[in-house]
Amino acid sequence: MTAPVQAFDIAIIGGGIVGLSTAMNIARRNTFSILLLEAENRLGSHQTGHNSGVIHSGLYYKPGSLKAKNCVLGRERLYNFCREEGIEFKRCGKIVVAASEDELYRLRNLEARGRANGLHGIRRLGSGDIKEYEPYAGGIEALHVPDTGIVNFQNVSERYSTIAMEFGARIETCAEVRSVSVGPREFMLITDRAEFKAHCIINCAGLYSDRIARMCGLEPGLRIIPFRGEFYKLLPEKEYLVRNMIYPVPDPRFPFLGVHFTVTVDGSVKIGPTSMPAFWRENYNGIDNFNTSEILNILTWEARLFLSNKFGFRTLAVDEIKKYNRKYFTSLARGMVNKMDENGFTQWGAPGIRAQLLNVKTMEMVMDFVVEGDKESVHILNAVSPAFTCSTTFTKWVVGNRGIDLFRL
Ligand SMILES: Cc1cc2nc3c(=O)[nH]c(=O)nc-3n(C[C@H](O)[C@H](O)[C@H](O)COP(=O)(O)OP(=O)(O)OC[C@H]3O[C@@H](n4cnc5c(N)ncnc54)[C@H](O)[C@@H]3O)c2cc1C
Repeated sequence: MTAPVQAFDIAIIGGGIVGLSTAMNIARRNTFSILLLEAENRLGSHQTGHNSGVIHSGLYYKPGSLKAKNCVLGRERLYNFCREEGIEFKRCGKIVVAASEDELYRLRNLEARGRANGLHGIRRLGSGDIKEYEPYAGGIEALHVPDTGIVNFQNVSERYSTIAMEFGARIETCAEVRSVSVGPREFMLITDRAEFKAHCIINCAGLYSDRIARMCGLEPGLRIIPFRGEFYKLLPEKEYLVRNMIYPVPDPRFPFLGVHFTVTVDGSVKIGPTSMPAFWRENYNGIDNFNTSEILNILTWEARLFLSNKFGFRTLAVDEIKKYNRKYFTSLARGMVNKMDENGFTQWGAPGIRAQLLNVKTMEMVMDFVVEGDKESVHILNAVSPAFTCSTTFTKWVVGNRGIDLFRL
């Protein structure tokens, strides 16, 4: 006998930080039955579990953008959440270092952006002042940003999921949504193990969010292009080289912040991530989860970007390939930390893969968060960095203002 189909008010697809935070925020209202479906056997297995662990201040984002608005508020909420829940974090501040004269103009633009976004206490440092914060940092000028911090994001995700479940949300792991059929005021979600019904869907599927949107009948004209970020680790005897965090000045053409040095909450020094275009969505190691049709699709888009060099994609890809050469990587890192040497670091474990959205009409990388959909299904399509930092404010905004009319249920 087949198991009866279970029905819920809201189904959330994806158990990364965005899905978990959405589940927690809605569950706390105690009004709706919530189901969260996660494909893997563990929550937070993808972007959420493989990132830099930095609580961003809101420095980088275009004033008025969703990233800017949510990051400034979101980081304060995250600090408070960690304080209330006893999760270890440090509001340690960081410096952003201009390694050469050509980066000075961009550094000043960044400072202006930070001030426009309401950041307090940012301070410009001359080469002498830099040493006060980071004795081994290079650079001719820097910005000190005191509101940046660090946390172990897995600890935050675990707490979000526990709270969501305490408030009645049901979380199913090993439940990959294979297909969705759309009926009148109802969706049927088919997973490997069971089928579920829901009045509303919130798509938080990260690397697969464009695919889920299409399953729900939406064609957003957007594609996820995966970017692989390798991390390295300073050897313990070299950890004295970094006190808190040292960042480069990012290239504004790209949605990435550049390889940086971060002292994690356990005291190790993480270097990275790189931003190499990946060939398939789960292109972590070897040929794990290799998928021929996916690779052909992604490679087609990447080849078009490469040939047109739209927004400098070719320049980025070539530069990222060079970073696999240890000598080249070390020379770049030395622009930020003087005493970096080729033998002073090792691989950090699995890389992280970013779910970066491409607008297929303009062939441009989308910089801001994107939320598409209607009253019954909401699709979070570009929850890239700093989506972790602003997870609670952003997902509250999604369910409150932009998305599902929760009260129609
Ligand atoms: C290298 C790197 C460094 C970063 N550094 C920072 C940082 O320092 N600070 C910061 O704020 N942000 C950072 N970010 C960004 C941050 O990690 C992400 O914005 C955030 O984790 C996105 O969360 P998510 O829930 O949208 O995606 P994910 O964590 O990827 O979760 C999506 C989930 O959906 C599941 N899923 C997919 N398809 C299905 C399906 N069909 N059925 C069921 N489940 C499905 C997946 O298994 C996955 O668990 C970084 C990201 C990367 C990759």
